[in-house]
Amino acid sequence: MLGKLAGWDDTIAALATPQGVGAIGVIRVSGPKAIAIVNGLFPSKDLEAAPTHTLHVGYLKYNDTIIDEVVIGLYKAPRSYTGEDVVEISCHGSYFIQNNILQILAQCGARAAKPGEFTQRAFLNGKLNLAQAEAVADLIASNTAASRKAALHTMRGGFTEVLKNIREELLTFSALIELELDFSEEDVEFADRSRLMNLLDEAAYKVKQLLQSFMLGNVIKNGVQVAIIGKPNAGKSTLLNALLNEERAIVSEIAGTTRDTIEETLNINGILFRLIDTAGIREHTSDVIESVGVQRSLQKMRSADIVLYVFDATAISKAELQQTLATMQTEGSKIIAVANKTDEEGVDYATKFTGIAGIVFISARYQRNMDVLQDALYTSVVNDEVGTPETIVTNTRHVAALEKVLQSIVLIKDGFAQRTPLDLITSDIRACLYHIGEITGEITNEDQLDFIFSKFCIGK
Ligand code: GDP
Repeated sequence: MLGKLAGWDDTIAALATPQGVGAIGVIRVSGPKAIAIVNGLFPSKDLEAAPTHTLHVGYLKYNDTIIDEVVIGLYKAPRSYTGEDVVEISCHGSYFIQNNILQILAQCGARAAKPGEFTQRAFLNGKLNLAQAEAVADLIASNTAASRKAALHTMRGGFTEVLKNIREELLTFSALIELELDFSEEDVEFADRSRLMNLLDEAAYKVKQLLQSFMLGNVIKNGVQVAIIGKPNAGKSTLLNALLNEERAIVSEIAGTTRDTIEETLNINGILFRLIDTAGIREHTSDVIESVGVQRSLQKMRSADIVLYVFDATAISKAELQQTLATMQTEGSKIIAVANKTDEEGVDYATKFTGIAGIVFISARYQRNMDVLQDALYTSVVNDEVGTPETIVTNTRHVAALEKVLQSIVLIKDGFAQRTPLDLITSDIRACLYHIGEITGEITNEDQLDFIFSKFCIGK
């Protein structure tokens, strides 16, 4: 279990709203002296005597100087975000006032909080488990509806509930098996072997599901890399413009931005598709592309999760298309074949390419079937992986631990199958419990915690 972390008895303070000027700024103070410190600056009321979860309007004063008129929010331990006494000062959002209040708080004994320190305290006080605490950071960073949903779900318990159940059952079994060890002379079995096997199978299944969900989790959190490739004149830039139609208008209004440095993204049903190397598509003078074309396309394909292979449906033969797709498949990316220019009359394109599965027929110029292409992009990510499970793992640290959980489950099962001595099996069970504990934070160390929470923003 956790030792006491250095400095965690201190009272800490930080600006919880963004740095800069706003209508209001919120300064958060947490720790054993939070109420006393702010009370000393707030002559109009006795905050120590006030009940928890109350708001108080008044002047903040320091050495007889009025600092600001503020609203104080009072949360007394343990009913607060951190589990400690918390005071939130809503002040006027001037840069000067906010910093002035922070300086004064520091002089009164509330030191500046480190990034994530409020959430770290919430974790240490048992308000959140570690995975939930980490989800708070993800929630703050979420930029689509899907990433918000995944983070919220984890924060509210999510997959740690699944792990908790596995852990509790395993703990029971390990206790029974340790008991058998104590009675090893007598050859008794306290732990029901077939129930244990069922439990292990079920646990392995659930852990595998969680691991699989990471693919989708990763997609939700980081977006999907999409490359548009194809011969010159296939219609790549026209397609790019068609796909970005709406966003484009917004972005170009921002003065001084050069289009090439802006990453083009497309939000389809909450999943962020990142179009890579779009500058490369635009800069084309066709002969430059011709000379480096093949190399460049291959490079792009390797860094992409999905490749949109755009071809001029009027110009390519079925045999050539089949051959190109076959060559591309060896690179291992997911490929969506996009037949462009199908507005050109006189050809039945479906018949022309009959037998090649999954072609999306579009006209980039007239923006026909853009919705079909968007659907194809979306389903290539969501359906292929795991559908849309309720519980999604988005954190690489959790994945690493889950992989170790799975490995130890396999070892335990093998151990029983091969009649390995019980004391060895017990150590595998302990390893399994240990790795589960690593995720939820029952087992962790100070360095690891500092690392995890350092990735937060200050004030959270
Ligand atoms: P890129 O070299 O692959 O980027 O191709 P462009 O987007 O520059 O398009 C090459 C030419 O094909 C241009 O003259 C476009 O107007 C034309 N083009 C692009 N998409 C379509 C389409 O859907 N239908 C037709 N008829 N022409 C298109």
